[in-house]
Amino acid sequence: MSRRRQIYEGKAKVIFEGPEPGTLVQYFKDDATAFNNRKRGTITGKGVLNNRISEYLMTRIGEIGVPTHFLRRLNMREQLVKEVEIIPVEVVVRNVAAGSFSKRLGISEGTRLPRSIIEYYYKSDELDDPIITEEHITAFAWATPAELDEMVSMSLRINDFLSGLFFGVGIRLVDFKIEFGRYYQEEDVRIVLADEISPDSCRLWDVETDEKLDKDRFRRDLGNVPEAYQEVARRLGILPEGGPTDIKGPKVMQ
Ligand code: UDP
Repeated sequence: MSRRRQIYEGKAKVIFEGPEPGTLVQYFKDDATAFNNRKRGTITGKGVLNNRISEYLMTRIGEIGVPTHFLRRLNMREQLVKEVEIIPVEVVVRNVAAGSFSKRLGISEGTRLPRSIIEYYYKSDELDDPIITEEHITAFAWATPAELDEMVSMSLRINDFLSGLFFGVGIRLVDFKIEFGRYYQEEDVRIVLADEISPDSCRLWDVETDEKLDKDRFRRDLGNVPEAYQEVARRLGILPEGGPTDIKGPKVMQ
């Protein structure tokens, strides 16, 4: 682990002060939690895979013109990111019913939604991340209406782009959670995609078999958890250095 000054420790990552002002280092742990910390465990190699998968997805998203906090990967478990002020709202985009959505609305898992649905949750461990509406976000000034508009249009672009990217490697993007931050630069402030995008924060199902390739394998004790994360990396053609290199998967065309 790094000797840098620790700023924050979350459930799956540790945030350190970065080498230059205005930067942070995200260290990806193997720790996994679910059900607001009531289930804990480790998934061997998860940190290495999520660091690489998140680097890859953030880079691709940056290439289509959506600004992100990602700067560069430093090593197997660490990446350098821009320091941002995190907006305390988790944006969830759903394409297929699953998880808490299925439970809340009584819509069986796997039902295709008539269109993509965006939900917001207030980032609060004490309150168990309650679902909220745009009204709460703007009334309590967690984000301004203009910032929220920006977050919604970025989320929909990210959903369209990632749905296609994953579909190209035989994976259905069922849903995902993203976070945004304010990046301050001189007089200017802009909203950028922050945190991570990985099988910890997405539901990813095999297109043919509906096999789950994400954290639901851990949440629901389905077994083969590290293998599922590795399979996502393999299909994206980005198994990390040091990992198996003898398996050739389809490559995303660029
Ligand atoms: N999610 C997340 N962090 C959270 C809550 C949800 O990354 O604190 C992700 C989750 O992996 C899934 C999506 O957001 O891809 C929607 O999760 P849901 O609301 O269905 O909650 P869950 O059933 O996972 O509790």
